[in-house]
Amino acid sequence: MLAWDGLRIWALTDGRFALDGGAMFGIVPKPLWSRRIGADDQNRIPMALRCLLLQTGDRLILVDTGIGSRWSQKETAIYAIDHREQDLVRSLKAAGFAPEDVTDVVLTHLHFDHAGGALRTGADGDLGLTFGRARHHLQRRHLAWAQAASDKDRGSFRGEDIARLMDSGQVRLRDGGGELAPGIELVVCEGHTVAQQVVRASDGSRTLLYCGDVVPTAAHLRLPWIMGYDLQPLATLEEKRSLLTRAAADDWLLVFEHDPVVAACRVRSEGGQFVPSAPVEI
Ligand SMILES: [Zn+2]
Repeated sequence: MLAWDGLRIWALTDGRFALDGGAMFGIVPKPLWSRRIGADDQNRIPMALRCLLLQTGDRLILVDTGIGSRWSQKETAIYAIDHREQDLVRSLKAAGFAPEDVTDVVLTHLHFDHAGGALRTGADGDLGLTFGRARHHLQRRHLAWAQAASDKDRGSFRGEDIARLMDSGQVRLRDGGGELAPGIELVVCEGHTVAQQVVRASDGSRTLLYCGDVVPTAAHLRLPWIMGYDLQPLATLEEKRSLLTRAAADDWLLVFEHDPVVAACRVRSEGGQFVPSAPVEI
């Protein structure tokens, strides 16, 4: 946990899963990426499901919800979903909070490994919100895309989840970035998917950026290391360049949603690339 001026910050975890290493690194050859994150015998790399919890004033803001628990045996095996050591609700409890304490959930986007944990099956067998009292913030253009995704990315969304989320009446659709709470700002990016929103938090002197799927792991700090999943890789490239230039200049702490080892680090600019500092624990 980081205690900044008027802002407390936790990295929570929803356990782990795994995705194809080739898909995670796009055009980068395996001999290069596998030195950074090793693949298993099915070519999958281990992935964290790291969420962010921010407490400021009377707000408790959760950013992303992990992959959740509603997966078949077959899907659990395909994605190597592993909640044995930790899941989001247990991780939240370890930070001292219950699901009903969360006032706001920011969904960076609706890919299943970011929004899957927003819903859970209740004791009655019905699908309901995990964080039942929270406003769920989502970009309107992203919702429209997710409801009619392309053949390339339809498999990243779960239609039933999106429908149930919208039926809850607790989604606040947003048009563009801007302030979510004092010191906490949403930044909209277009490269990975339509209107992903990442989160920047500052106490006035220190700034943190939760990178979402713009920079999913520290290995992706290299500008051309862009996921094969991205809809507009050249837009991702410029978004990374722009955000990382500011991060290096202003000493931002970067939090990685999917890095299996590095929760956060700072960067410095060197010869047009961005070099990570030593990892920072949160
Ligand atoms: Zn994504």
